[in-house]
Amino acid sequence: MTALLTHAEGLSHITPDGHPERAARLDHVLHALEPLDLDRVTAPLAEIEDLERCHPRGYIDAVRAKIPSRGSVPLDADTWVSPGSWSAALRAVGAATRAVDMVLAGDAPNAFCATRPPGHHAETERAMGFCLFGTVAIAAKHALDAHGLSRVAVVDFDVHHGNGTQDLLWTEERALFVSSHQSPLWPGSGSEQERGAHGQICNLPLAPGTDGAVMRRRYEDHVFPRLREFAPELLLISAGFDAHEDDPLANLGWETEDFRWLTRALCEVADEVCGGRVVSTLEGGYDLSALSESARAHVEELREAGR
Ligand SMILES: [Zn+2]
Repeated sequence: MTALLTHAEGLSHITPDGHPERAARLDHVLHALEPLDLDRVTAPLAEIEDLERCHPRGYIDAVRAKIPSRGSVPLDADTWVSPGSWSAALRAVGAATRAVDMVLAGDAPNAFCATRPPGHHAETERAMGFCLFGTVAIAAKHALDAHGLSRVAVVDFDVHHGNGTQDLLWTEERALFVSSHQSPLWPGSGSEQERGAHGQICNLPLAPGTDGAVMRRRYEDHVFPRLREFAPELLLISAGFDAHEDDPLANLGWETEDFRWLTRALCEVADEVCGGRVVSTLEGGYDLSALSESARAHVEELREAGR
């Protein structure tokens, strides 16, 4: 059965009033997933050793030192921490590494991590874009280094470029990183010319207004063949739902059914190349209805694929 990894401490990462990355996001996602038959797993705290696969100890300690005893403080204009942020971030990373453990051990066919803060904008030594640690990149390194896999792939369909994941995996020959994202849009990186130290990074910029039909063609033409060729032993997904037409932070035109289609298609490729082993982790998505509906469609497809 598909595993759902989460922890209530994800709700105690508090951002200022009006901040789009708010606790209500996780609440809505969990509520939408409530009726689904899933293997519910309590996310553990990440091991510092796992964080250190991607971030130097000095950076990890500096983030911890910034955590206030009350209120919220900014690490940059967008990225805030509150007293609960340290545990929340460690649960987010711990969910992803535990999900990798479970899926590689055959304890679950695939898994979804419903956690926050998100991770794909966190660079080696820089918190940004609501993110503290590079959750999905750490999960990729955990699969490679702790489990000895030779090849993993990360597909990031969040509407923003996964600059952090790209930075953390830039020299990692064993990891294919694919990011589709609106361009131009913050953070501004993610051109097709950014290919990684070994040509293993594949950026798919999408013009504002790109709808689901165009997205499907771009994935069919560029992403699925690349995944089949690379033949990862595990597929990781940075599942952001802010490419939805209702999202307030971006201007793509995907609908809930497009996330369903994309999830199904990615699971089909995973079936072909890696026995269906997929670990997906929540990134962005800022319209609460679009987010919860799309996340539900995503997890329903994981569950269907895992039967
Ligand atoms: Zn995003």
